[in-house]
Amino acid sequence: MINHISELFGRQINSLELSPTIKQNPMVTFRPAIIITKGKICCARCHAKLKPVEARLPYHHYYCYVCIQMGRMDTRHSLVTFPEPNKFPVIESPMSWQGQLTDLQQQCANQIVKIFEKRQRHLLWAVTGAGKTEMLFPAISWAVSQRLRIGIVSPRVDVCIELFPRIQSAFKKVSSILLHGKAEQPYQYSQITICTTHQLLRFYHAFDVMVIDEVDVFPFSGNDMLHYAVQNAVKLGGGILYLTATPDDALMHKIKRKKYRLVICRFDTMVTCYQQSK
Ligand SMILES: [Zn+2]
Repeated sequence: MINHISELFGRQINSLELSPTIKQNPMVTFRPAIIITKGKICCARCHAKLKPVEARLPYHHYYCYVCIQMGRMDTRHSLVTFPEPNKFPVIESPMSWQGQLTDLQQQCANQIVKIFEKRQRHLLWAVTGAGKTEMLFPAISWAVSQRLRIGIVSPRVDVCIELFPRIQSAFKKVSSILLHGKAEQPYQYSQITICTTHQLLRFYHAFDVMVIDEVDVFPFSGNDMLHYAVQNAVKLGGGILYLTATPDDALMHKIKRKKYRLVICRFDTMVTCYQQSK
């Protein structure tokens, strides 16, 4: 049950999960969870086009069987949102990490800061061991200083669990939270969210900047629902940095078609950068 309005900032939650007081807040918006137009049934949370036979419930109601693992949504429910207010404190020098980047890592890190500043959408191709997490730190630090909301996401739970303490320790003064299906920590509004791609189904125009790790890995690769979740979780015009160590054929095809701007960072070379518009 959501009792404090901050738990709704930038999220999309089933109306059943709200306390009566929260429902009465004038800034809270409601939209149908399942949309039916001209006989076509679509889930507003995961964007799945639903087969009537499979989605049907008694009394002409329908539910989404695609994103049911995030809690059942049906035609009797609404998705409830509160526009993300960026209600974060001003933090001087947010980065506690005192390590040193190599020249090449620093060049890559500078590129990432620019990507965040301009809210661009880039793919960073960094081989395993290139130190990509540390390369993110200057950009995260910049984003925190601007009071932006930051999402760091991976399709893999183990990656999120491994990443969370490193981010916490690098940004001790900044609020952060880890979200995944088995997380026991209660949800709290935080400036840095580290979560699985599935958890993004509960966010709506929340993040000013996002990092999506392991974009070529199951279950993210080729999964329309999770790609939609990313686009829905980032603010309109927000920046996204996609990370990969081993781009698969589909990703290479997108790079060739210049669907992504690309930054390549290997041990000894960097930087290719497409600069086409969004
Ligand atoms: Zn759905």
